[in-house]
Amino acid sequence: MLNDNSRKNEEEGIKALAKALRNGGTLLNIGCPVCSYPLIRINDKIYCKVCNSEVLIYKDEKDLPKEIRKALKKETPQKEDTHSAIKQSLEKKIENLRKRLDESDDPDEIMKLSKTIDKLLETLEKVD
Ligand SMILES: [Zn+2]
Repeated sequence: MLNDNSRKNEEEGIKALAKALRNGGTLLNIGCPVCSYPLIRINDKIYCKVCNSEVLIYKDEKDLPKEIRKALKKETPQKEDTHSAIKQSLEKKIENLRKRLDESDDPDEIMKLSKTIDKLLETLEKVD
């Protein structure tokens, strides 16, 4: 949904795009990542005239500036973090139960503890 303001910006942008083309810009076969209008190359720089900003295009992740790569990395490994956090708390629980098992002389408790440890180990294997 476009409000009047962004529609106006869009019209302005398309006009600016047409003007840049007349002035020797090259229309690219790539859409703007934000508004998906075609990007234009002017003097080796790439612009989106609709967003009115320069667009940087990289073929490879390693061409990205360091800070952008860092920001991208921050978003991705979240799953791994949860994964290792679960693993860590399982391992901690198992260790605590194992200590209790060491100290326990009550057959019922020993039974309970070893069953629980067994289950936790199973879960840990699945997480791994
Ligand atoms: Zn754009």
